[in-house]
Amino acid sequence: MLGRCRRRVILCDTGLSRNRWSHAVHGLLTRDGTPPAELLRLAREQLSPYDTVELVGAEVVDALRTADGFEIRCSDGTALHSRKLLLATGVIDDLPAIDGLERFYGRSVHHCPYCDGWEWRDQPIAAYGRGEAGAGLALGLTVWSRDILLCSDGPAALSPRMQDRLDAAEIRLREERVLRMEGTGDQLERLVFDTGAPVARSALFFASGQRQASELPARLGCKFTETGAVNTAKCESTNVPGLYVCGDASREAQFVVVAAAEGADAAMAVNKALLEEQLAANTLASRR
Ligand SMILES: Cc1cc2nc3c(=O)[nH]c(=O)nc-3n(C[C@H](O)[C@H](O)[C@H](O)COP(=O)(O)OP(=O)(O)OC[C@H]3O[C@@H](n4cnc5c(N)ncnc54)[C@H](O)[C@@H]3O)c2cc1C
Repeated sequence: MLGRCRRRVILCDTGLSRNRWSHAVHGLLTRDGTPPAELLRLAREQLSPYDTVELVGAEVVDALRTADGFEIRCSDGTALHSRKLLLATGVIDDLPAIDGLERFYGRSVHHCPYCDGWEWRDQPIAAYGRGEAGAGLALGLTVWSRDILLCSDGPAALSPRMQDRLDAAEIRLREERVLRMEGTGDQLERLVFDTGAPVARSALFFASGQRQASELPARLGCKFTETGAVNTAKCESTNVPGLYVCGDASREAQFVVVAAAEGADAAMAVNKALLEEQLAANTLASRR
């Protein structure tokens, strides 16, 4: 969008997109089922005709607000100056520390039922997590399957009301420590506990928390929501003048389609802000 507005854009990206563990992006109309790396390849290919957009593979290690914009420092020593700054730095998921998880993550172990629940409809599914978060995930998964087992990997710490809701939804609870995941290839088949029998499961969804992937929003003085997202306002603007934050790092739903839409929204806002600055400068100059 910014490139199409003939703005000079420098896109710094280390390329570690959050969904790189996944085999397919779901819920992205017209591109449903595309592997994340292919989506990235297509995005870069479609940016290439825009000579206004420059892709830089470096990490931004620091950013500072100045009187007329931002000073940006990259890991390769490059220093950049920009009038506006749009961060789409994403989040990092805290993965459960269960032996074998990495083998299944993004294939038969997931965190988001909206992204991957459909593929496991009517299958035996485990919800992994403690307290209200784990129980809420288990209840949410009943949309996709009636065979849900909640694994709290320790005391579940549930309120009597939540326990009643689980019982009413026929969700079983196992509080034993989860020792490991077993399966064939990247297909989960069973969970092994420290006591009691292993349980057969085709998929596991977890609720273990997440954090900002970059310190840049905090370092630049952004305000955050209670859940740790950057507290953005209209068109992804922040409390820091000239700074916009979009995608998972900001406070709305975390989907590829939403991240892209927020990017377009922010781009329009950045373009309008730059246009207004130019028009004001023109008016000032014409009065002299
Ligand atoms: C396993 C998994 C499966 C998923 N499946 C789906 C799905 O099916 N459908 C769906 O809609 N969503 C899915 N999601 C969510 C989706 O991945 C995110 O909503 C989306 O990636 C958000 O995009 P983003 O640009 O905000 O962040 P990211 O994709 O995390 O991209 C952030 C980018 O910024 C770069 N970066 C960060 N800091 C710096 C820095 N300082 N300097 C330079 N570059 C930096 C990173 O390297 C990365 O390339 C899934 C997530 C996971 C973890």
